[in-house]
Parts: sequence; structure tokens; C-alpha cells
Amino acid sequence: MLMKSENDEVVSQVRETVQRVCEEFDGEYWREKDRKREYPTEFVNKLTELGLLASLIPEEYGGSGLSISVGSEILKAIHEFGANASACHAQMYTMGTVLRHGSDEQKAQFLPKIASGDLRLQAFGVTEPTAGTDTTSLTTTATKTDDGYLISGQKIWTSRAEHSDLMVLLARTTPKEKVAKKSQGLSVFLVDMNEAKKNGMTIQPIRTMLNHSTTQIFFDNVPIPDSALVGEEGKGFKYILSGMNAERILIAAECIGDARWFISKATQYSKEREVFGRPIGQNQGIQFPIARAFAETEAAEAILDKACYFYEEGDTSGTYANMAKLLSSEASWSAAEICMQAHGGFAVAEEYDVERKFRETRLYQIAPISTNLILSYLAEHELGLPRSY
Ligand SMILES: Cc1cc2nc3c(=O)[nH]c(=O)nc-3n(C[C@H](O)[C@H](O)[C@H](O)COP(=O)(O)OP(=O)(O)OC[C@H]3O[C@@H](n4cnc5c(N)ncnc54)[C@H](O)[C@@H]3O)c2cc1C
Repeated sequence: MLMKSENDEVVSQVRETVQRVCEEFDGEYWREKDRKREYPTEFVNKLTELGLLASLIPEEYGGSGLSISVGSEILKAIHEFGANASACHAQMYTMGTVLRHGSDEQKAQFLPKIASGDLRLQAFGVTEPTAGTDTTSLTTTATKTDDGYLISGQKIWTSRAEHSDLMVLLARTTPKEKVAKKSQGLSVFLVDMNEAKKNGMTIQPIRTMLNHSTTQIFFDNVPIPDSALVGEEGKGFKYILSGMNAERILIAAECIGDARWFISKATQYSKEREVFGRPIGQNQGIQFPIARAFAETEAAEAILDKACYFYEEGDTSGTYANMAKLLSSEASWSAAEICMQAHGGFAVAEEYDVERKFRETRLYQIAPISTNLILSYLAEHELGLPRSY
């Protein structure tokens, strides 16, 4: 694709840098973190020092002002070289809400510190236990006071909340009954988490099948100032939607990286492992699924490249970002499946890293958006079929 060739040199530099970091933070590091469900602080600090998490922040705010295709290559490489970016990928893109919709004061106050890593903005409080995918039915409220708002309610799956200084929060400012459309009356706030923790916000970690530092958060009349509001009151749902394409593209890139890791691992193992006097990779039952996973990954990556291209051209339609996420998450899962199968019993041994990566990559068919919801988006917006919900 066009953007790729323009970015070729930068891409090979960032890939080399990421590869070096991943050699330092190898399988043993990730296994240990996974076992203890610990946050990979050292790895995140290293990426921060190298400026990789500030790649999408414009230069005027201290970032490197790179394109989303380069951002994708960074995350793709992290996953391809065996690491996992979920502990910090949101530091790359959550700031987009402030960049696109924040005031000049908010941008000047926060973006340079996010770029340097002095402030971590990697908590994104949208999902709620009862609303689920039906975001506009969320019930967390922000009630106006003289000098700000009081937040009440509960969020779930707020990842990295314990490792974030700021959170982008979506809350209802006008009751559903008083707005013409459910998507109105929702507002976005940039919450200072350290202050909120002292004033009624409680974070509870959720132990999950993968090491993801995810949490649920309770807000008990938490006061926040007027200056926390991002953009106009009541327009928050639109602001949140405008950040979804970047997130889907970047997650799709991680899936492509995972798929490459599984394919490489499966190929290498099936060349080396001999059973019945020949390498298992000589059997079509082993080599065909690996070859198919390779083809699926290349195809998904071509759609990802197209999604990056449209994003960079300013196209705001979600079609390609959604398709990239759908196809890449399925490609990584097919690759995970054959990698596991090709390793036989050794697949489930911790030291091979296959079972860890297998658990990690499965998430992406569920979050940040589930496959069914992508399909219903395509059915409605591309094919003109009636909305199914
Ligand atoms: C580890 C993890 C980290 C996450 N991190 C964050 C985060 O940082 N911030 C945040 O806000 N959220 C986060 N999420 C939430 C994530 O975005 C949601 O889990 C995801 O969008 C699915 O929502 P749900 O779990 O409520 O599923 P539900 O909405 O309950 O859906 C359950 C299943 O039903 C299907 N379904 C629902 N409605 C329809 C329909 N109309 N047609 C067809 N199928 C349907 C869904 O596709 C899904 O498969 C995270 C989730 C996980 C598991």
C-alpha cells in the first residue's frame, strides 16, 4: 500500500527497536508476569522511555506525530516478537479523545505529560455490567453541581485502571427519558484518578484467564471539576465513537503480530519434531492448516493496510477498521489453533509460551468489540440490511 512504502524506513527502524526490547523482555519475563498476574511495569517503562507509546501524539505536544500505520507496526512487532502490548496500548490511543475534542487548555495541560509518560492516560471507562454492548443504556450518572459534577455508578472491564493517572469516562448527564435519542445526553470526562480515589472511587481488580490488569470501578458521588468535561456536554457518545476506528486498527495490528508469532512457532516446531521417522511438518494434516493460517494472515493484513490508508485520508467510516479487526482476530485465532495442535502435548506446557499466547489472543474476538457487533455493523452500514438490535 501507498502509506507503507512512504513509511518503510521508519517502520524498519521501529521494528528493529521493538525486536531489541522484546529480546530483553523474553518468554521467561512474560511467563513470570502471567503466573503472578503482575503488571509488566519494566516493559512499559522501556517502551515509554523510547517514546514508542507517544508515537501518535503530534510533535507540537511532544509526541513523534507518526501515522496510524506506523503505530500499527509498533504494536504488530511487539506481538510478533512474543510480547504483549495490552498493558499499555491504550496510552497510545486513548489520548485521541482529548486531541480531537478537548479544549486548547486541556491539550496543553495533558498531552505533553502523556507524551513524556509523566501522566498515564490508559483507562477507558465505558462498559458497564448491565448495559454491556448496548452502551447508550449505561447508567453511570454525572450530576451537575455548582462547580462541577458528582459521578455515581459502576464500570466494568476498565483495564489498567490501577496503572493510570487519568481516565476517559463516559457518563449520562441528561436522563434517557429527557433526550430524543438514547445516544444524546452522554458526556465524556477526563477524570483525575488520584483525586477520585480519595473521594469515593473504588477500584477492584478482576482476575481473568489472561494477564490483563482489568478492573471494575465503583463511583460513590465522586466530585469532579467543570474542567474535566471534554467537549460539549451531551455529545460524549459521538466523541467516544470517533476514537473507535483507531482502537480497532491498532488491535487488529496486534492480532496480525500474534498470528505471525503462532505461524513461525508452529512452522519451526513442525520442521524439528520427528514422529514416525519424519518431521511432522511433512504431513499435509499439519502443513496445510499452517499454510492456510499464513494466507489468512496476509489477507487480513491487506485489509488492515487499507484501513490505515482510509484512516490517514480522514475517512471516518468504520467499515475497514471493523473488517480489519474482524479478519485479523480470526486469523490470529486460526494460527493459534494450528500452533497448539502442531505442538501436541507440549502445547500446554507453560515453557513453550503457546498456551499463554493462545489465551491472550482469544480475547480479541470479544474485546474491544465482539465479532457479532462488527458483523451487524457491516450488515447495516455496508449492505443496507435492517438493524438487528
Ligand atoms: C479483558 C477485557 C478488557 C476490556 N477492557 C475494556 C476497557 O478498558 N474499557 C471498556 O470500556 N471496556 C472494556 N472491555 C469490555 C469489552 O469491550 C466488552 O466485553 C465487549 O464489548 C463485549 O461486551 P459484553 O462483555 O458486555 O458482552 P454482551 O454485550 O453481554 O454480549 C455478550 C455476547 O452476545 C453478543 N451480542 C450482544 N448483543 C448482540 C446482538 N444484538 N446481536 C448479536 N450478538 C449480540 C455479543 O457479540 C457477545 O458475543 C473489556 C473486556 C474484557 C473481557
